[in-house]
Amino acid sequence: MDKRRLEYLQRMGIDVWVPRETGAEAAVASQPAAEAPATAAPSPAASAERDEAAPDWDWPALEAAIRACTACRLHESRTQGVVGVGDHAARLMVIGEAPGAEEDRRGEPFVGRAGQLLDEMLRAIGLSRRDGGVYITNILKSRPPDNRDPLADEVAACEPYLRRQLQLIQPQVILAVGRVAAQNLLKKEQPLGKLRGRWHFYGPDETPVWVTYHPAYLLRSPGDKAKAWQDLKQVRNRLASVS
Ligand code: SF4
Repeated sequence: MDKRRLEYLQRMGIDVWVPRETGAEAAVASQPAAEAPATAAPSPAASAERDEAAPDWDWPALEAAIRACTACRLHESRTQGVVGVGDHAARLMVIGEAPGAEEDRRGEPFVGRAGQLLDEMLRAIGLSRRDGGVYITNILKSRPPDNRDPLADEVAACEPYLRRQLQLIQPQVILAVGRVAAQNLLKKEQPLGKLRGRWHFYGPDETPVWVTYHPAYLLRSPGDKAKAWQDLKQVRNRLASVS
């Protein structure tokens, strides 16, 4: 493991050791670093159901549409629509739940301590919202009041924006962070523990999706950071396999 990645992992709060015999890396107290089991692609019916075209916006039109959107009740209480941040030619798209108070104020997803941890996690696999390779957005572009969970009609109203972002970026991998993002993206009700650990597929392009913990959860439960590192390695390996 190179020195910089080791530093990022240590800043994430993950202790890493390197066995002398093999040089292979392992995170202390982590799950076995087994490769994820192959997961079957979605059924044709499921794909067809999600195979609706998003409106034909270019980036300026898409961003303007989000900022002016009144398609669901959340426009009444938000400060601004939060489009996303990062590389428009990203290989990895990170999708969270919705803007929080700070994101709503600053107009950027994943800021504050959770955002800093996400940045450290991404840097550990060589990606950065400022320097390229990753685009970060949310299922919902407007903040739900009191950070409540998104409602189904809000997710449906906002989905064309996410679809168009995916069409424009065409990422090789999606990382869904947190239970709410994963359930709404994948249209599944399983708990996060059941959604982690295998590949899912999203949209007409069947983009591979990996599910991991929300960084805000990891701040509260640092004991699970090692598992998050296992997730990041899956993403890193998948990206390497298609480069
Ligand atoms: S959450 Fe999405 S659909 Fe609702 S007002 Fe905001 S941008 Fe529009």
